[in-house]
Amino acid sequence: SRPAQDPTLDDARSLLSRVWGHADFRGLQSQVVDEILAGRDVLAVLPTGGGKSVCYQIPAILRPGLGLVVSPLIALMTDQVEALKQQGVAAARLDSGVSLDERSAIWAAARSGDLDLLYVSPEGLAAGAMMDRLAELPLSLIAIDEAHCVSQWGHDFRPDYRNLGLLAERFPNVPRIAVTATADARTRDDILRSLRLEQAKVFVDSFARPNLQLSAERKESASRAKTDARVIELVRERRGKSGVVYCGSRDGCDRVAQALRDAGTNAIAYHAGMDTKERDRRLERFLAEDGAVMVATIAFGMGVDKADVRFVIHADPPGSLEAYWQEIGRGGRDGEPAEGITLYGPSDIAWTLRRLDSRPMAEEVKQVQVRKARQLFAMLDGAVCRAQAVRRYFGETEAQPCGVCDICGDPPLLYDATVPAQKALAAVQRLGGRFGRGRIVDHLTGRTKAVQPWEQQLSTWGIGADISPNGWRDIVDHLLFEGLLVEDPNDGKPLVGLGDGEAVRAVYKAERKIEVRRVPAGYDAGTRSGNP
Ligand code: ADP
Ligand code: ZN
Repeated sequence: SRPAQDPTLDDARSLLSRVWGHADFRGLQSQVVDEILAGRDVLAVLPTGGGKSVCYQIPAILRPGLGLVVSPLIALMTDQVEALKQQGVAAARLDSGVSLDERSAIWAAARSGDLDLLYVSPEGLAAGAMMDRLAELPLSLIAIDEAHCVSQWGHDFRPDYRNLGLLAERFPNVPRIAVTATADARTRDDILRSLRLEQAKVFVDSFARPNLQLSAERKESASRAKTDARVIELVRERRGKSGVVYCGSRDGCDRVAQALRDAGTNAIAYHAGMDTKERDRRLERFLAEDGAVMVATIAFGMGVDKADVRFVIHADPPGSLEAYWQEIGRGGRDGEPAEGITLYGPSDIAWTLRRLDSRPMAEEVKQVQVRKARQLFAMLDGAVCRAQAVRRYFGETEAQPCGVCDICGDPPLLYDATVPAQKALAAVQRLGGRFGRGRIVDHLTGRTKAVQPWEQQLSTWGIGADISPNGWRDIVDHLLFEGLLVEDPNDGKPLVGLGDGEAVRAVYKAERKIEVRRVPAGYDAGTRSGNP
């Protein structure tokens, strides 16, 4: 039971309206705040824009002592601290950009009890000296922002977050709260274990974002020029609105930004190849100028709080459904409608896998990341409501179709391509991973001059003459998206092999049905599902 003088939820509400100007808490905020006010540990998984920061800021102010906030990015800290100061809250940050004089002033304020919130980086905290100084102060709580960074299963792993488990030992009597917008069940478990939050109450809010209208388009070809042209078209159709275009590489980012400027839009490139000052300048412009379009790599994002982003376009798809939802989620934070449009193609999978392969990660972790990437592509090339697919992935098994995405708005005709899929898989099996996508289609249709004598003796040679090469390309690509076929990521001209053995067997036995969206040209498609 709580001592009578402890702050109550009513105190929290009046602070919320007095300092933040919000009439009341929303969603799970009040429950989370109540738990922290009572001095208990919490893991709060709230969607982007869900208002995670007030969940710990308000209890930090109301409870006696200094509230410590661990935050992964300087830009994020700066934004939050500046906003708090403007609202009259005594907040400060200690990061590499703070001078020695400022540091002493901040510690002095902390010691005299004049500081409500102190933001620090995980690196700064890991240095040790800071922990010692903090141990001398009364702490109201410790908040760990973007807590998914602690997990290798997440998409944003930061090794320094691993040390934050130490906080449990150093500050056993201080309530700790971990917040994040993205955590599947596995990441959640990892957060609880790594941060030693075994006792924490876990809150997971709905991931529904009804104001987001999602869609995905298969790229017509692997040609960059064609993808750029499509991006320009999409942006020009939304002229005057502010938006974000995500690109997979710095080069791509510079190129697309230039192409957009040439096409008369106010496009700003943003990536980690620019120094911090330059990036800050570009961020300021994006926030200040009307109709600005940020063309960015994933370096842009965490903590960006521009309310009126009306569209988010992925010129290249992200690496997982978590990253997808987080990036798309930067649109429509004001609650007004916003669009999320993702362009994807088979070469993007190969690229994603190649990039994963080059990262220094344990094999086990790599496998998880590969699976996450495949789940994203299967969703993009699938025929399930986008929002429903994402929410189910996050554990909302009861999520219903959103009614506004491209799939809901225009349910695709689905064609049963199980038999052609069996032929394609059999061909790849017989070819033993010797051919790339194009040559597999040649083999199936039997339309090639490059045929080799041994190839002609295989039972699968020309087995698919009834389907046009384009039709086969669609099917082979879909099998790649579903992970039934895999492209060897290490190969410059990737060779295609069979994917997961069990999944492939299920297709052979017709236990798993393969449905494609476009009718394979020349093929008598048989059963149709979806709308007639
Ligand atoms: P997150 O960190 O979860 O993405 P923020 O904490 O940045 O979200 O909050 C997102 C926006 O929602 C901010 O503009 C914030 O002021 C606003 N907000 C937070 N809580 C409430 C509330 N209870 N009512 C209305 N607006 C809120
Ligand atoms: Zn939908």
